[in-house]
Amino acid sequence: MMELRNVSKIFEGKMVLENVNLSLKQGEVMTILGKSGSGKSTLLQLIADMASVDSGEIHKSKETMCAYITQKPLLFSHMTVLQNIAFPLKCQGVGKKARHEAALKWLEKVELFGLGNRFPYELSGGQQQRVSIARAFVYQPDVLLMDEPFANLDVKLSRQLQHLIFNEMKQRNIAGIFVTHNYEETKMYADHTFLLQEGVLTKMSDEEVELYFNEGIEIEGQIVGVS
Ligand code: ADP
Ligand code: MG
Repeated sequence: MMELRNVSKIFEGKMVLENVNLSLKQGEVMTILGKSGSGKSTLLQLIADMASVDSGEIHKSKETMCAYITQKPLLFSHMTVLQNIAFPLKCQGVGKKARHEAALKWLEKVELFGLGNRFPYELSGGQQQRVSIARAFVYQPDVLLMDEPFANLDVKLSRQLQHLIFNEMKQRNIAGIFVTHNYEETKMYADHTFLLQEGVLTKMSDEEVELYFNEGIEIEGQIVGVS
């Protein structure tokens, strides 16, 4: 449903992504690991059409809809929580009543019931992230792109949201690319895991994933991993 061929991106003369190849099937979940500055967010932005490639191609059909959850939630500050969640439906021309009902359902799913009329600045960072998750799911995305979505949430809430998100993806056969530093997401939910190392994307074996999260793996004399 989506394919990247030899995708490269240059920022200020520096190669941030180098000949990245990746293909994603319907319902498939991938995680991307890699240290800060390796190009993970840039890769998601290219896929989400929020930046353009310098060379190579990204193939996806016009009908393929991507929802993108950024690391820092980007909500519309002049809209209430419910209006934020319902916004994608408004863009699709869904009527007011149906929009409201769908937004309420998602408000409840992300456990923000009663906060629908607040404005984003009245919410904590974690609550804002839950709003952006609800907004991503309220319409029917084919691909969910997530950039460290749980990084600012406590462990209990992250687990709940992981369950919610991955169940929903499975039920609706939504594919996902997740940038994460989280072992459970990688181990329990990902069909494939990739490592981004200074712009170069490589597929990881199960053993490499284990090592990465334990003592790290050595690449060109450098230890890469989470500890
Ligand atoms: P990661 O998400 O893995 O931490 P990023 O994709 O954010 O990495 O960044 C990769 C590299 O690209 C970094 O060196 C960063 O400074 C650079 N970069 C990212 N966005 C821009 C930009 N808009 N302009 C210039 N350099 C950028
Ligand atoms: Mg990033």
